[in-house]
This record gives sequence, C-alpha cells and structure tokens, in this order.
Amino acid sequence: MLIAGNWKMFKGPGETRSFLESFEPPEGVDVIVCPPYVSLAAAVETGRTVYAQNVHWEPNGAYTGEIAPEMLLELGVHGALVGHSERRQLFGESNEMVARRARTALGAGLGVIACVGETLEQRESGDTDLVLKIQVEAIAFAAGAHEKLVLAYEPVWAIGTGQTATPAMAEEAHGFIKDILDRPVLYGGSVKPENAAELLAQPSIDGALVGGASLEPDSFAAICRIASASDREHG
Ligand code: PEP
Repeated sequence: MLIAGNWKMFKGPGETRSFLESFEPPEGVDVIVCPPYVSLAAAVETGRTVYAQNVHWEPNGAYTGEIAPEMLLELGVHGALVGHSERRQLFGESNEMVARRARTALGAGLGVIACVGETLEQRESGDTDLVLKIQVEAIAFAAGAHEKLVLAYEPVWAIGTGQTATPAMAEEAHGFIKDILDRPVLYGGSVKPENAAELLAQPSIDGALVGGASLEPDSFAAICRIASASDREHG
C-alpha cells in the first residue's frame, strides 16, 4: 500500500522539516511526500521518500521555471508527480507533455506517479472512459509498464472539493485503467481519515494520493495507519 501526500504550494523548508521530523510512517505502508521545489532538499534531509510535483523532459535548456530530472536526482529526490489535474487545467499541460515528462523521468531513474482523471462535465456527458483511455494510453505509449511507474486516478471534480468518488465508482475506474496499463493505481480526491478505509478496501485501489489531508500531521498519519491496517487485511 502506497500513500503519497501532495503538498501543492504549501510548506516552505522550515515547515517541511518540522512536519517530517515528527512524522513516523507506520509499518506496512510506503509513504511519499511531494513538497514544493524549494522544500525538496529539507525533505530529503529527513530521510523520507520524496517526490517533486513535476519534472521537465529535457536535461537542461531555456525552459524558465522548469526543473530537470538530473537536478532532482542530484538533490536526492526519488521521483516526481506528472500530469496532476492542476497542471493540466491551470497550466495547460497536454497529454503529450505529461507523457514526455513521465518517459524522461523514468529513463533518468526517477519514480513517477502519473495522474489521470475526468472533469465533472466529462463524467456527466458519459465520456469518463474515453478521457481515461486517451490519458492512460498516452502514458502507456511513452513509458510502457515501467516498474517505477504508478498511476493515480484523480477525478477532477473530487479534488479539493470534499466530494469523493464512491468506492464502487473508483474501483470501476481503476479496473478500466489497469486493463490499459497494468501498474498500481492510487486513488486521489478528498481522501481523509473518514473515507480512507472503504476506499482502500477496494481490490483495485493500491493506495492514495492525498492533497488537503496530507498537510496536517494528524490526519496524514491517520490515513497512513488505515492504509497499514488495510494492507495487513489484504495481505
Ligand atoms: C491532490 O491534490 O492530488 C488531491 C487529491 O487533493 P485533495 O486530497 O485535497 O482532494
């Protein structure tokens, strides 16, 4: 079971250090934290598994504001998120860009969590499967079933809204995704201690990508403990 905390644009180096120094992940769960770029070094120093929130596809070049895989590796960072819906929606990242980011990061030796998910409009118009197929196939085509690749199903309408996919809805989407690309799939979208157990109990849900509830040590620790218990139940 894997629990990843996406801190988005929260927590500078000082707060990152104090959070992680007092946070002890329970047995049976792999925990990843994804702090902002400027806090990556502080996070690495605490000995935790650390992913950046994005990564570029070139080793260097005139790409203002971007960070290369080799730079993350030099810092001791273990991997990167790619294709988060906030990147896709607010910064115009296309499936092709996401796929290139995934391919070069994996090629450089980083782990990758590649995010996919439909908007509310797409779900309501019955296009969920089509959207997921296009997003996952772009990643599959570029990266294949790489052993350091994990996917995250994050319905856009459930991110930061307090609305969560029902366990059955999430299970169905995870099964659909795995039929295209056979890699572990995390669920993301308003996961919190109150709903984590029933989501993580689904057979095709391999962990969670947690935003808001990962910012607070008690709620993040509670989710990690639930994942650890769920891991023991499911072997
Ligand atoms: C996310 O940012 O990946 C996320 C799932 O956020 P939240 O848990 O706040 O919905």
